Amino acid sequence: MDTFTFTSHSVRPGQKDHGFVEIEIRGIIVKLPVYLINGAEEGPTLVVTAGIHGGEYPCVEAATRLGQSIDPTKLKGRMLIVPSANPIAFKARSIYVTPVDGLNLNRQFPGDPEGTFTRAWAAWLFRNVISRGDLYIDMHGGDMIEALVPFVSFNLTGNEAVDRTARRMAEAYGIRAMLVKRDTGGLAGTTYAAAARDGIPALLTEAGGQGVWNEDEVDILQSGVRRVMTEFEMYEPVDDPGETAVELGGWEWLRSAHEGLFYPSVSVGDHVTEGQFVGRVADIFGETLQEAHAPVSGEVLFLVTSLAINDDDPLMAIAYS
Ligand SMILES: [Zn+2]
Repeated sequence: MDTFTFTSHSVRPGQKDHGFVEIEIRGIIVKLPVYLINGAEEGPTLVVTAGIHGGEYPCVEAATRLGQSIDPTKLKGRMLIVPSANPIAFKARSIYVTPVDGLNLNRQFPGDPEGTFTRAWAAWLFRNVISRGDLYIDMHGGDMIEALVPFVSFNLTGNEAVDRTARRMAEAYGIRAMLVKRDTGGLAGTTYAAAARDGIPALLTEAGGQGVWNEDEVDILQSGVRRVMTEFEMYEPVDDPGETAVELGGWEWLRSAHEGLFYPSVSVGDHVTEGQFVGRVADIFGETLQEAHAPVSGEVLFLVTSLAINDDDPLMAIAYS
């Protein structure tokens, strides 16, 4: 076993360390918190990120607890955990975007070092964090204005070994709703799509939302990572296997065509039938601007919960079997 290094930090086998790494990106200093855990025995390197979106809290807490609790003397392999991967957005309590340039970090991967801050930050994270993994898990949740049903997702790339491993990770995680997407080309955009395209089996996991966090959601995310570690023989087994994954057929997003007020008539987790009225967008005087109907029968997987809605904002996603 070798020393595990990350920028200026390094840890010997059977040890761990944590601290901030300071990186200057387009003239802005990012203080990135990291846990570096070097196992006592050989095994895969698992990279875990949380907080790519600054207002998603259960994932941040779950990553912090993983970093605190993993015992390096029992670990086979290595872990690089970044509990707040977009610290500027976290500090700003920003929804969807990084305030510096108004871009959604999870639409920029694999990034561009010559781009504006968020694109350059994506490039740094991709090169220095995500690419270090043999396995990669990116934890999210509903944003501050979203409620959601916990789900896991991965992209099919056509690389059979990568796709098979990603499916193993998804099925091990212990969350029921499993969304399998096909890489359709173009900009990868998301962390896990870019990683998978680069040959790293990668998983997106989501729990919690609406700007709050609770123990159940933290546990779903934290236990899921532990179950993946068990699956790949990196760590001692978790007693509770969690939920059995059920592959969804896909999902359809509904979007607002107006700026105004959003009145959903369904709740997150509800089952709806095709054509069912699911909500309306009105102007500030109460006049209906748009009626939304379910394009498919299925489950409301996420739902925007703010009264305020902007033109082209998502309203909800309906997952079908
Ligand atoms: Zn997110």
